[in-house]
Amino acid sequence: MLLRSKRCWALVAFSLMGFTAQAQSPGQDSVMIRRIFSEALANGKSYGNLHYLCTAIGPRLSGSEGAAKAVTWTQQLMAGMGLDRVYLQEVQVPHWVRGKKEKAKIRSRASSQQVPICALGGSIGTGKKALRAHVVEVQTFEELRGLDRAKVAGRIVFFNRPMNPRFIQAGQAYGEAVNQRSTGAIEAARMGAAGAIVRSMNLAQDDYPHTGSMHYQEGVTKIPAAAISTNGADLLSRLLQEDPGLQFAFTQNPQTLPDALSHNVVGEIRGSEFPGEVILVGGHLDSWDLAQGAHDNGAGCMQAIEVLRLMKALNYQPKRTIRTVLFMNEENGLRGGLKYAELARKNKENHIAAIESDAGGFTPRGFSIVAPAHKISQIARWKQVLAPYGLHDIGAGGGEADIGPLKSDQIALIGFRPDSQRYFVHHHAASDTFDQVNRRELELGGASMTALVYLLDQYGLK
Ligand SMILES: [Zn+2]
Repeated sequence: MLLRSKRCWALVAFSLMGFTAQAQSPGQDSVMIRRIFSEALANGKSYGNLHYLCTAIGPRLSGSEGAAKAVTWTQQLMAGMGLDRVYLQEVQVPHWVRGKKEKAKIRSRASSQQVPICALGGSIGTGKKALRAHVVEVQTFEELRGLDRAKVAGRIVFFNRPMNPRFIQAGQAYGEAVNQRSTGAIEAARMGAAGAIVRSMNLAQDDYPHTGSMHYQEGVTKIPAAAISTNGADLLSRLLQEDPGLQFAFTQNPQTLPDALSHNVVGEIRGSEFPGEVILVGGHLDSWDLAQGAHDNGAGCMQAIEVLRLMKALNYQPKRTIRTVLFMNEENGLRGGLKYAELARKNKENHIAAIESDAGGFTPRGFSIVAPAHKISQIARWKQVLAPYGLHDIGAGGGEADIGPLKSDQIALIGFRPDSQRYFVHHHAASDTFDQVNRRELELGGASMTALVYLLDQYGLK
């Protein structure tokens, strides 16, 4: 009897195994995810790789020497990982150069003092001589449009709306404030202004100006635009109250050169059962020129490479094709993301999901998803096995820029969501350096992405 019952259980176990070859039980998923995190925390390579990218290569603005070096190095890095395929995709990118370090001075009745500024990406220069003018401070475009044009013409418009500190997710505060940077120069020029100064997109008070892309509009005069540090913005605002007739002078000499040839870098492990179904993980390889681009977005690129390394290290053979893409030119053009999507359509590739890490190398919190509701529900149900790793926030939300052009009903666009509180202190500023990255937080991010890729690979997306 005893023997028989043992045999019966063995049969049950055997048939369960047969069943789970198609769809693994949550228990097996938990074991695999635990292995992913253990390997990442004990032997992770994201941190060491990021150290090299930041310190040996450094800033990587599109068209720069640093960007070219980063392409070559990451291609070589992936080529040495035993992947099935590593290749480059050619892409023409904008080539903007900052030129000599910018200078700015506030001259009021009481004093004359320098303040830290930096040209916004894409801006024109002031010429060799400083642009000197009176200042009009505004908080919103509506306020600016409501002013008497004669009071704005020839002046510098100072956009000084702070990022709203009341948001829990710092990214929302950024989203609400960033139009001052991206299109403030257009709004100011429409009112006849000679220049635009924008309060840095920064939730901290410090002396770092934060750059970022800005745009001009055809038919609207191009005027120079710069960011001022948050401390500098507060000082300028205070001095304007004391002396509305003060003058602001700034010099910057950036240039837009002809487009340059650059590349997306791609590496993949081919799926054993459904090689035509692609699960993409990515980040953007370019960075602003002021810093090492550690959080934005060396971190995301090194994590995306780590996903493939973890699978190799754990001898995991995916059923579906797992592809890492390091996009070029997210910061000032998105040309890499657009080119990737164009080629994917041309080659009739079937992407079931794309995960991008572009919110810093901080402690993982979850994933935000753009997809039809039933796909979001399916991913959200995996919270059960992901929550023990701090991944609680899984649901509808924004994807990331580079994967955006892949949008369709067939694909889930997924943004990796780390804790957001410190990201905008360093974002696009000279302080975005390797020493601001915590090893465990960074490696946990790569493991989190790998865990989700594993679940997507096991079950697909219906
Ligand atoms: Zn970024």
